Amino acid sequence: MNTTANAFKQSATQYCHDLDHRQRIRKALTGYEAKRDENKGRFQSWEEARQAAAEIKYEVINHLDQYLEQFVSNLEQRGVKVHWAGDAQEARELIVQIAREHNVWRIIKSKSMTAEEIHLNEALEKNGFNVFESDLGEFIVQLRQEPPYHLVFPSMHLTRHQISETFTEKLGAERVTEPEELTMIARRIMRQRFCQADMGISGVNFGVAETGMISITENEGNARLTTSLPRIHVALMGIEKMLRRMEDLALFLPMLATAGAGQPLTGYNTLYGAAKLPGEPDGPEQFHLVLLDNGRTGVLADAEQRDSLHCIRCGACLNVCPIFRNVGGHSYGTVYGGPIGSVITPNLRGLQDWKHLSFASSLCGACTAACPVKIDLAHHLLQNRRNAVQQNPSFFENLLWNGFSFVMQKPGLYRTSAKLAGLFQPLHGLVKGSALDPARGWTQSRETPKIAKQTFTDWWRANRA
Ligand code: SF4
Repeated sequence: MNTTANAFKQSATQYCHDLDHRQRIRKALTGYEAKRDENKGRFQSWEEARQAAAEIKYEVINHLDQYLEQFVSNLEQRGVKVHWAGDAQEARELIVQIAREHNVWRIIKSKSMTAEEIHLNEALEKNGFNVFESDLGEFIVQLRQEPPYHLVFPSMHLTRHQISETFTEKLGAERVTEPEELTMIARRIMRQRFCQADMGISGVNFGVAETGMISITENEGNARLTTSLPRIHVALMGIEKMLRRMEDLALFLPMLATAGAGQPLTGYNTLYGAAKLPGEPDGPEQFHLVLLDNGRTGVLADAEQRDSLHCIRCGACLNVCPIFRNVGGHSYGTVYGGPIGSVITPNLRGLQDWKHLSFASSLCGACTAACPVKIDLAHHLLQNRRNAVQQNPSFFENLLWNGFSFVMQKPGLYRTSAKLAGLFQPLHGLVKGSALDPARGWTQSRETPKIAKQTFTDWWRANRA
């Protein structure tokens, strides 16, 4: 087993045994489910909205080259500096270079999973810059030196007591446990950092080709301050985040809020299309947009997997996934966890190293049913499994399946094997779950299904009269 698979297995086993953790996640998500369903009811038809969103994304992703060109041309006409990054390293180097060229010292960052994907904070810190997260959840996990736990709720795994302990230990704050008091501690620190920062880095929720604008949606107002107070704004955007027109936002903004956080609409929704224009009192002096590929064009070229680029990172598939709810967000070992992470990570970071995520699924289909843009995640997981096996077939699995196929094609042999298996099954109890058990991966935590004493064919022969 490779290292990433091993780490996943160890961490997942540990989290599955942590009943407090499971209880906490379940409780947090119960509130979300109630609000999500209530707000789905505000749509005339949630199902028709899903269909419309899927069709819009289909159109954009299948003509991505044209929409990106239109988007970039509109932005450049207003003086925005657009940079293309082929991979994570290029994107990191570009952003470090922008910071160096402009004598930046302190950087403030709003929530961006794309920045997590390229490990931007580590790169900036290694190059001597101070980077501060401005999203409350991200701020907490940054203090704890942990990666975000969830696409939308980075610190959902923590209790308010744990957050208070973190604030006391890392910031010297007094012990408080009321959420408002905890927020005020973070806010006091954050306000200073907004004023001191030379550069603000944001993610992008949607890019609108028609107008050449980026849309950022958030609940705390921190992204607005991140993008408007420092003298330089750098936005990092995966190339798949495109929409065609402004009117598409009328569907996607409430849909993202409802599927992602169970809200009718997120608290702050802002469009950015340029740096401060002449005569304007507020805003950054420069606006840079870094467009990131990092494996996305590879997925685009794969007609089977292409629609995984429709993802709007709402996190709804994580929230309903029985695996995510038990193994927790950190077990995945990758920035995109849950079903969508299990689908895209093997395609973005290497199928053989990450195929275990596609196998760690019950294939119950809850993710497919929850996805607002109708990505058939369960089907993609199966495709990943098939591709992984075809690319690197296992000798023992081949032997097993060839043997199975041989036996299934010979009814006499099948009947004899079934009888023998039934006779010898009681002996399995002697080694069950031990190192000598060939099926211990299964039997360590499950009962072996009992082989019936009488086959259906025998029963039929005996009873059909
Ligand atoms: S795959 Fe669908 S449900 Fe999951 S994060 Fe993406 S858009 Fe949301």
